[in-house]
Amino acid sequence: MKFYIYGAGTFGKKAIENYVKYFRESVDDECLGIIDREKCGQIYNYKINTWEKTKCKYQGEAIIIAIECIDTMKAIVNALQSDNIKNIYWYLDNDWSCETGGKSFFSCHCLDVSEGKTDILPQVEMHIVDGCNLNCRGCTHYSPIFDNSKFPNFSERVQDILKLKDKVDYIRRFYILGGEPFLNPDIAKYAEIVRKVLPASRITIVSNGILIPSIEDDILKRISNANVEISISEYKPTHAVIDKITDKLKNNKVKYEIREYEIKQKFNIPLTSNIDTKFPQLCISNGCVTIWNGKIARCPSLMYIDELNARFGLNLPNEGIYDLNDIVSGTDLINKMNEKVPLCNHCVKNEIEWQVCGKKAVVEDFVSTL
Ligand code: SF4
Ligand code: SF4
Repeated sequence: MKFYIYGAGTFGKKAIENYVKYFRESVDDECLGIIDREKCGQIYNYKINTWEKTKCKYQGEAIIIAIECIDTMKAIVNALQSDNIKNIYWYLDNDWSCETGGKSFFSCHCLDVSEGKTDILPQVEMHIVDGCNLNCRGCTHYSPIFDNSKFPNFSERVQDILKLKDKVDYIRRFYILGGEPFLNPDIAKYAEIVRKVLPASRITIVSNGILIPSIEDDILKRISNANVEISISEYKPTHAVIDKITDKLKNNKVKYEIREYEIKQKFNIPLTSNIDTKFPQLCISNGCVTIWNGKIARCPSLMYIDELNARFGLNLPNEGIYDLNDIVSGTDLINKMNEKVPLCNHCVKNEIEWQVCGKKAVVEDFVSTL
């Protein structure tokens, strides 16, 4: 298919680079040029022109919008549609699919966004265990109050993903986490099924890494084969075994990133029960849409609030948690996930040094009264 790339910024350059490196010589897809509102010049010999100039010679080719910001992409889709352009795609920055070979640039990297198919969720998270082996004070998933030996029902979790997938056009990033996801012996099975259900999404397991040196190689290989990455949050106990963790991941060819350790690592007591709080407001989970037990909420702090309330006899507001069955459309879902909820008034910046809870978590580990 012949196409133009719309966007000559970082994302556009990456799109051209991937096309040239992996597809130009091997498949029929042919790039004709680059469109940009401000930039001029050329990238890899492809000339950059404005849409107005390109329009004069346009003959129904595909336009691939290579701009990262979803709202900007949507605005360009609308503008192109008002010019009667029908063949519109969004460039997906999923590098791993380039290496699979044999596919077209379009099947690896392009999402069809013509006909207004732009109900896109940037990020979704899902627990595969609620509890953790580290129990940090201030955990925004309240993992220290959960039993870390209990695991969810696998098919119910998959049902949640399928229901969500059914509502939206695309999920850009999907995080498998907890708690500590490596506590769940089915972690590779989850990686494989999420990849199967969401073939074009970037999928990441988020872990504190401590268990990784003792995980069977076969499990890590299955995660790697499913093109699922691991993101390690490097807490103090993680830092102590970081070489063992990275060796293990390298040996099993798992793609990983380390969210690096800082000596004076700051954490946060995320909530206050006091509406006239002395602390400044802080949202640390904006956009971390969470699915759990057939429900969806705009962030983990809200999703698990009923459990926190029940555990400590609190009455923090829980409005904004929806049954996945009650969501009528992707637009409805995205609007709901963007609405401020009453709990937002209780989210504050209240920094502490990183530390773990005592033998049993107490309310002060998560909620201040100040
Ligand atoms: S390691 Fe992460 S999930 Fe576990 S308690 Fe700490 S912050 Fe929560
Ligand atoms: S409740 Fe609101 S302010 Fe608090 S973390 Fe969630 S989205 Fe952010």
